Amino acid sequence: MGKTRGVPTTVDFERMLRGAALRVTRPRLAVLTAVHAHPHADTDSLISTVRTELGEVSHQAVYDVLRALTEAGLVRRFQPMGSVARYEARIGDNHHHVVCRTCGAIADVDCAVGYTPCLTAADAAGYEIGEAEVIYWGRCPECATANATNETPRQETDRRV
Ligand SMILES: [Zn+2]
Ligand SMILES: [Zn+2]
Repeated sequence: MGKTRGVPTTVDFERMLRGAALRVTRPRLAVLTAVHAHPHADTDSLISTVRTELGEVSHQAVYDVLRALTEAGLVRRFQPMGSVARYEARIGDNHHHVVCRTCGAIADVDCAVGYTPCLTAADAAGYEIGEAEVIYWGRCPECATANATNETPRQETDRRV
């Protein structure tokens, strides 16, 4: 906090773990670092990142650490429909995600208007609401461009029929 946003150091990660009442271990540090470095990564890519750092680490160990970090609120887990679970370190701001239907790319989307309006349900049906999870589905710029160049000739043939 304070300095420029992002690029936390090992000391910061140790402080985060202790602040969440988690013992500082090498796997926890490595996983937390990997999630910060690769927003929206899935478990498999986090495992390979952690392995380049620590050498051989079991899948189970990384799963366990991810669960502990998620439960402690240091990491946020979300799972778009049809995708495996993703993890990110941008926590606590209730931001949303936009997912490309074509290639599965994911980007962050801030709350659309004003101050977390998505948290305010028109009718909460008596529930105490703590979080709103919104996923926008669409096409990323790369796929939209690729598709435009591919589709133009086909649309012309369609029109002639
Ligand atoms: Zn795409
Ligand atoms: Zn995100």
